[in-house]
Amino acid sequence: MDLFEYQGKQYFARYGIPTSAGAVADTVEEAVEAAERVGYPVVVKAQVQVGGRGKAGGVKLAANRDEVELHAGNILGLDIKGHVVRRLWIEHATDIAKEYYASFTLDRAAKLHLAMVSAKGGVEIEQVAEEDPGAIARRHVNPLDGLTIEEARGLVIEAGLDAEAIEKAAEVLVSLYRCYVEGDADLVEINPLVLTPDGRVHALDAKVTLDDDAAWRHPEWSEFEGTGEIDERERLAKEKGLQYIGLDGSVGIIANGAGLAMSTLDVVNQVGGAAANFLDIGGGADADVMANALEVINTDAKVRAILVNIFGGIVRCDEVARGILAALDRVELSSPIVLRLDGTNAAQAREIIAERATDQIISEATMLSAARRAVEVAAS
Ligand code: GDP
Ligand code: MN
Repeated sequence: MDLFEYQGKQYFARYGIPTSAGAVADTVEEAVEAAERVGYPVVVKAQVQVGGRGKAGGVKLAANRDEVELHAGNILGLDIKGHVVRRLWIEHATDIAKEYYASFTLDRAAKLHLAMVSAKGGVEIEQVAEEDPGAIARRHVNPLDGLTIEEARGLVIEAGLDAEAIEKAAEVLVSLYRCYVEGDADLVEINPLVLTPDGRVHALDAKVTLDDDAAWRHPEWSEFEGTGEIDERERLAKEKGLQYIGLDGSVGIIANGAGLAMSTLDVVNQVGGAAANFLDIGGGADADVMANALEVINTDAKVRAILVNIFGGIVRCDEVARGILAALDRVELSSPIVLRLDGTNAAQAREIIAERATDQIISEATMLSAARRAVEVAAS
């Protein structure tokens, strides 16, 4: 679950990471009220879950009431990379001497946490990584050892932070690590982490992604629910108990087993297509599950072809084929469906499908040929 900046800052505050005083506002009037409470000058900030708000005109300084009205009016409703601004965060403006970068995330390949610190903050870190990779100090942190203040200090020194920022930045880093680990986040990022002219160090931005698998031990996370930007397809899938993740391509995917579903995405990609989703229907590919899966995929306007990839191990393909046909009687497809049924009783399955085959129901023998066909159909 991704948090909005204002939620991320509230999360940071629990772990003692310094942030500016602020308040949320959903209207221009609320923005003015918030600004009066927080004290001028303020920064009016778009709350959308996408980076680069500053460049897109979603972050503006306001010295007085008129300026707050102007900027709040302009930013509310603004479309930032496809995200429409519905909420603002108004915070007391900070004088900036320097902008730095700090983050923790999981390096899955190394099976360790990864800390990254840079003296070049305020711009997107991907850009720094490309143009000046040496400007980012990286260090793996073994979860069994944790991060000591000495190590944090070493890291900020290596990153080239200014002398007067080192001690406080190291403290922020230790707090940020605690927030990341104890707060069960997959990612915590501060960009920019600023040094003020009077020598304070604090977080001007917050990006926090919580680990959904840890939600059971964080009843307090319920306050973040319902405020996120929800993918309508994912909402429906969740309601139907399906393992679904929305993507951007045009080939809808249904597979049994997470591994097979992942491989299906890869093969579609390999033959020049792009998957519209990940969907694992698990072991029971019966008519109900299949109908639910097709309904979810049908709500995706980008889908131009549906690829069903089932390997019959315990589940028998002939049963799956009957399930699919029964589902097709219940759901009106908005795009052609390509079926690849292999494994136990695959031959019978293909016969069952063959009786019903049309140019909307296509059967293919292999995963590769099915993927090719689906990509072809999606492109036609
Ligand atoms: P992003 O563009 O989505 O990453 O939004 P940020 O919250 O990082 O803000 C973008 C930029 O706006 C920052 O890098 C700062 O340069 C500037 N900014 C944000 N808050 C303040 C503030 O309180 N004072 C000043 N002077 N600039 C700010
Ligand atoms: Mn930022």
